[in-house]
Amino acid sequence: MKDNGQIYTDILTNIRNGISMEQEIETVCPSCSPEEPVWHEVLRTGQNPTVRCQECGDVHPAETRKETVVRVNVVISKEDESFTRHTNVGRKDMIHVEEEIIVDDEEMDDVYPIIVTSIEAQDKRVEFATADTITTIWGRATDEVVVKIAIRSDSKTTSVNMTVPGDYEFVIGETETTGRKKFTISRIKIRDGNFASRRGDRVAAKYIKRIYAESARTTGWGEGRTAWSEKYSTNY
Ligand SMILES: [Zn+2]
Repeated sequence: MKDNGQIYTDILTNIRNGISMEQEIETVCPSCSPEEPVWHEVLRTGQNPTVRCQECGDVHPAETRKETVVRVNVVISKEDESFTRHTNVGRKDMIHVEEEIIVDDEEMDDVYPIIVTSIEAQDKRVEFATADTITTIWGRATDEVVVKIAIRSDSKTTSVNMTVPGDYEFVIGETETTGRKKFTISRIKIRDGNFASRRGDRVAAKYIKRIYAESARTTGWGEGRTAWSEKYSTNY
């Protein structure tokens, strides 16, 4: 659960890690995305940060999500090891054994698709439960990984997740499509903290921390947008 202090710490961490030069955070937007975090520009830092939604432009205090989500412990087994991560789940969301869920640990900046193998709720092993009663979820990581992609178009950055096999290679300079978003990869942050940024560099998805990309829907790099692309880009 993130309070404002945590969000502020995240901002500092992001700045220190060079993740964003302008201060950008992922948080919920009360007007367009109350459940899923989206990118926000930080207008004012401090005890009560003020942020602007990069999806809809709404200006609001950075939300704590106490009311809508709970933070659940997840023990993930992957190959021969197992480790604990945390994920935010809607308070009343029902989780079932055998279901595939995405574990998105914001603090570790890690995302794993898992198959739920066991659930403990109110000190019992159960087949299903609502998130607010769950103590721990056990699951096995699938061979797929979720890659986080920050897509920039002009001053707006949109964050998308793309699920691919762990060995799938992303290449600097190449254009990819996920859902309705088309993007050209400019930089890849690798799990060891280094960046790949040379055209033609390839990195397998399982080693990627985050991809930085330019939207492939604009005609130029900021300047030469056509009326068509301008119109189109406001539609998603
Ligand atoms: Zn919004």
